[in-house]
Amino acid sequence: MRTVIEGGWVVAFDGTGHRVYEEGAVAFEGDRIVHAGGRHGGPADVRIDARGALVCPGFINTHIHPNGGGSDYLLLDESRNDWRSANYLSASAPLKGKVQPPDAAETAALRAFTLLHALRNGTTTVVDVGGLRGEWEGWVRQIETLGMRVYTGPSFRDHNIHTDAEGRLYYDEDAETGRRHFAEAKDFLRRYDGAAGGRVRGLVNPAQVETCSEPMLREAAALAAELDLPIHTHAGGNLLEFDRILKTGRKTPIAYLADIGFLTRRTLIGHGVFTTAHPWSHYPFGDDVQRLAASGATLGHCPYKYAKMAMTLNSFARYRAAGVNVALGTDTYPMDMVSEMRWAAVLARVVEGNYQACPPRDVFNAATLAPCRFLGRDDLGRLAPGAKADLLVVRLSHLGNGIYHDPIKALVDFACGRDVDTVIVDGKTLIRGGHALLVDEDAVYAQARAAVARGWERIPEWRPGGVGLDQIIPPAFPIERKR
Ligand SMILES: [Zn+2]
Repeated sequence: MRTVIEGGWVVAFDGTGHRVYEEGAVAFEGDRIVHAGGRHGGPADVRIDARGALVCPGFINTHIHPNGGGSDYLLLDESRNDWRSANYLSASAPLKGKVQPPDAAETAALRAFTLLHALRNGTTTVVDVGGLRGEWEGWVRQIETLGMRVYTGPSFRDHNIHTDAEGRLYYDEDAETGRRHFAEAKDFLRRYDGAAGGRVRGLVNPAQVETCSEPMLREAAALAAELDLPIHTHAGGNLLEFDRILKTGRKTPIAYLADIGFLTRRTLIGHGVFTTAHPWSHYPFGDDVQRLAASGATLGHCPYKYAKMAMTLNSFARYRAAGVNVALGTDTYPMDMVSEMRWAAVLARVVEGNYQACPPRDVFNAATLAPCRFLGRDDLGRLAPGAKADLLVVRLSHLGNGIYHDPIKALVDFACGRDVDTVIVDGKTLIRGGHALLVDEDAVYAQARAAVARGWERIPEWRPGGVGLDQIIPPAFPIERKR
């Protein structure tokens, strides 16, 4: 069966880069594109009118934690002043043994919400960089049912982070759990890589550079090479991590990873904000940006999340100019790849003091073609014959948007994820008119909201001082709650 989407601005791939066709067409049969570019003269079984819309490849989101986002809310913890540890530490270092993980039903609800939320905002390929544990068979079945493409594998580490009763952070070696979770990951990858008709693919996922011992990072890299899979870890995410690796490894996190052979073309580094390039690291020795470029590794840049914490990469433009392959991810909410492109472009210009830095082309490439390097795919992130039919129809021509002459600039400068009208993955329409077709999205939202609310109620059990959500994130204005 041939479906033709016609009349819109079509972003087609010409073998080297993207090229935009006014009143173009995309045709696909099954899960593969058969035509992308100008008008399509041939017959069609289904025709979709995309006039006034952008028809572009689905975005590859390199940083999603499928956990429902309740903990993201805690990142800007106003009850704590140790923001050198900002990023995940301030939100996720609990009193030891006090966190109760969500139950199986809550886990499923939180995972479903994350995937659908990302999909609805334009992500067709999810890179799962570590989420809730367990129920792995159910997780794979969820991906199968919901229809998106997911690179996933249980994350593992042999050090945990905790706070003591006074809120001091400490790292706690736990080799036994590390070994068990590594074995769990191996088993998952051998069992499920290629599941759901190839939409589930494996990702080797050592959690963070400073929570994994050197032998564990080396073993993880060897496993990725053996299984021919991509590998991810978080590095350069916060200043405490940077200092800790300087102290233990006598190098910056990026130099350390390069020297132990962790950085290859199949490697994704989450964040990479704190490198020799960042002024706060005050570290003048060596050049992490050059090291990243030379390794061929991909940097997963999550601009909005860091901007919320008053930090940013120094800078997207500088890394790109040095030859680093920069991709984009959302990390926290909203998982809106359209807005993320705008944040990436604007922040790079502010850092550089140059409005010509980071043009829309660079951020669009970062959301589409760039991640294909570490994924090892030449059939994603592009619309061309033979590529996967993973694509979006994004409404651009309406009152909520600006008047434009270039649809890519309109997307990056004006639009947001809620302008995504239609999402197709593997040739199947999952979102139409901005709504999920295969599931009851209101029910998914309600279940996730209830699960997050239960998680928030339990915060005083694991937070030093017993503080709760309203102390961590005081309301913007006093809220008169209903009785
Ligand atoms: Zn992360």
